[in-house]
Amino acid sequence: MSAGLQIPLNKLPEWSLWLDQAAQRERIPHAQMLVCEDGGIAWPLALDYLHRLLCAAPSALGACKTCPSCIQLANLAHPDVHWIIPVVGGEGRGDDEDSSAPFLADFRRFLLDNPQPLANDWVELLGGKQKVVQISVKESARIQRLLSLKSHGGGFKVVVIWMPERLNDSAANKLLKLIEEPQDRTLLLFISHDEQSVIATIRSRCQVHYARPLGSSILIDGLMGLGIPADQAELLAELSGGQPGQAVMLHRNRDALREPLQWFVTFMRLVYKKDLLALLAFAESLAKEPREQQKQWIQVSAQLLSQLLRMRHGALKNSLFSWFPDVSFQPEALAGLIDETRHREIQDLLQSALADIQRNINSRIVLSDLGLQFMRLFAERR
Ligand SMILES: [Zn+2]
Repeated sequence: MSAGLQIPLNKLPEWSLWLDQAAQRERIPHAQMLVCEDGGIAWPLALDYLHRLLCAAPSALGACKTCPSCIQLANLAHPDVHWIIPVVGGEGRGDDEDSSAPFLADFRRFLLDNPQPLANDWVELLGGKQKVVQISVKESARIQRLLSLKSHGGGFKVVVIWMPERLNDSAANKLLKLIEEPQDRTLLLFISHDEQSVIATIRSRCQVHYARPLGSSILIDGLMGLGIPADQAELLAELSGGQPGQAVMLHRNRDALREPLQWFVTFMRLVYKKDLLALLAFAESLAKEPREQQKQWIQVSAQLLSQLLRMRHGALKNSLFSWFPDVSFQPEALAGLIDETRHREIQDLLQSALADIQRNINSRIVLSDLGLQFMRLFAERR
């Protein structure tokens, strides 16, 4: 896979040991789960790991990338590696009803286009958010079948399962049996963007690895490698929260930021006017949006507020507000209210709200509380 945003994994030192173990075929737990935010680095890590595990001639630098095994894997066409992805239940194609196999060609193009894929983009490609996109019980039966086959290359047999959080209950239970009774030289590799929603009995039986957000310089370099100018790459790296897939999505679809920006403007106006009732109503309506949107709103708000601080110091070249001249807002006035202390407190509030939403705490309460805290903070005379 060569298109799309490339991140040099050898610059992420925390992963070297794990990847090396694959090359040496050592300590390969048969059930592992990679966890990252949506659009994070787990997919490239998983593919690199599998390349090393299956390569015919791995070296200290990793897989050779030229042997038949490497080439097949790069095309998601390795006979010993199988891909399970959530699809629209009940709308299977042909005999493989409910199974992801017929969707693999679409998925291959999808992953080539964005090597750090977003769950939302996949759901949309399948026909939208109104449909139930899941991994059905038929898939668990298929996984069982696949793992019992003889390995083509004589090495490991692998099943990669994207979004175990979307396994339906009976699929998860059936899969659990496979995890509990492992076969020799098999690997179940889960890639999750919502660890808390993965059924606990599966989670607890996996070796779990967390892929943290990328540092900004490595992400900015990657974005500039796509021909994006430095100042924009910087802004995208910030807004994406270090998740490369998010940065690419925002670059391609600036309009995705319009709504969170407008919500931010509304929210700050209500805070400034001390309109408590309207602020609570705002929190309530935001809480009805999908959780991903709420998280994005908090991330965008956090970036906007730190941009305002930089604006106050005259250190801002390219603010998000300048991308949307039609959104009526005078950032300079708000910038005047944000000093370092207040900015630090604001960021703490936003980060703790984000953590609460990630932990599935009731959004209505989290967002109402956030509004109240903001009102208190801006009402204090400094
Ligand atoms: Zn190779």
